[in-house]
Amino acid sequence: MTITAAARELQPQLIRFRHAMHQEPEIGLNLPRTQEKVLQALDSLPYEITVGKDTTSVTAVLRGTGGTAGSGDEAPGEAGHGRRVTPSVLLRADMDGLPVQEKTGVDYTSRLDGAMHACGHDLHTAMLTGAAALLAENRHKLAGDVVLMFQPGEEGFDGAGYMIREGVLDAPGRRVDAAYGMHVFSSLEPHGTFATKPGVMLSASDGLVVTVLGAGGHGSAPHAAKDPVTAAAEMVTALQVMITRQFNMFDPVVLSVGVLHAGTKRNVIPETARIEATIRTFSEASRERLMDSIPRLLKGIASAHGLEVDVDYQQEYPLTITDEDETHTAENVITELFGESRLSRWATPLSGSEDFSRVLAEVPGTFIGLSAVPRGADHAASPFNHSPYATFDDGVLADGAALYAELAMQRLAALSHSRTNS
Ligand SMILES: [Zn+2]
Repeated sequence: MTITAAARELQPQLIRFRHAMHQEPEIGLNLPRTQEKVLQALDSLPYEITVGKDTTSVTAVLRGTGGTAGSGDEAPGEAGHGRRVTPSVLLRADMDGLPVQEKTGVDYTSRLDGAMHACGHDLHTAMLTGAAALLAENRHKLAGDVVLMFQPGEEGFDGAGYMIREGVLDAPGRRVDAAYGMHVFSSLEPHGTFATKPGVMLSASDGLVVTVLGAGGHGSAPHAAKDPVTAAAEMVTALQVMITRQFNMFDPVVLSVGVLHAGTKRNVIPETARIEATIRTFSEASRERLMDSIPRLLKGIASAHGLEVDVDYQQEYPLTITDEDETHTAENVITELFGESRLSRWATPLSGSEDFSRVLAEVPGTFIGLSAVPRGADHAASPFNHSPYATFDDGVLADGAALYAELAMQRLAALSHSRTNS
């Protein structure tokens, strides 16, 4: 039976898993109910399981028994050559939901007020449990080890960072050779389309917190106060002007002010004003320039008005940069399993960000998009991830699971082959 056919047989169980997880979304680094579901799904399979110390992550290692890899770590060769190390690859799924009130109206809708799997991480987790079963069935053909990385806290909590510090990249007893992640979206591409891009695929994400420090007073006598509100208003627009005048339009920068707050009463000039913004960049060079030019701009405006300003530039997630060879490997597996029509090679990155970037900064690998837009829906008009209306179709679960599993099998076979022949 082909891997896609085997995956299709798992489809009912993947849908059950996903719906159960969707109804009970958990947020952040502590996802005990979700962890329980994952552990249950892996329970009867031959994986070595470790759970996180500081988070509810799950790391599962499958030791392949196929190929020439054997089961050992290093087979010592003669006089320093011919050493053969069992190859290993990592597959990642994130598991956390978002503080969003679900409005999709699906019959498996969230049962928890104010929490929703609005980014489709429930599908990632279900697909990876499917891959776990497929890989276990094919263990005898597996020419190395597979690490499954079930990660909490992707949505701004740096769950990947925690797992890396706790050793997920060395889970087989040595550093993994390659890493693959997948992300569904609820629009952009027709149902079932996989998306790839070598190089920069997702932006870096940073935060900006600005406090303008003035001197409060009576609204009728601004000359006797130092008004932080007018300076803050100027800063909001000056930031946009700075980006268009100082940064190359072919290396885009996105800065959006999401918080602008000052004051308590209309006739009182407040002491301070606060601005918070999210910043997305597509090159390390732009990111570094911003860290320099934003404080310079804001301090200049504050000083022009006789005020002080406190500027806190907070680095969040780095650029998600995929490896060119690993991306081509993934493209080949996608077209082999599903045909050329199911692959979309993106020319430009997305302005979203991912903490899988931390994994790809350590080991070569790639990140694959998968459109779970409801079948028949207009993919250009469907609500995108994070919307309370974002709807993800179960129909992609089996194919996602098959791709995870096949990627791991093919990559291990190639790694094992190249090592035997070297
Ligand atoms: Zn996400």
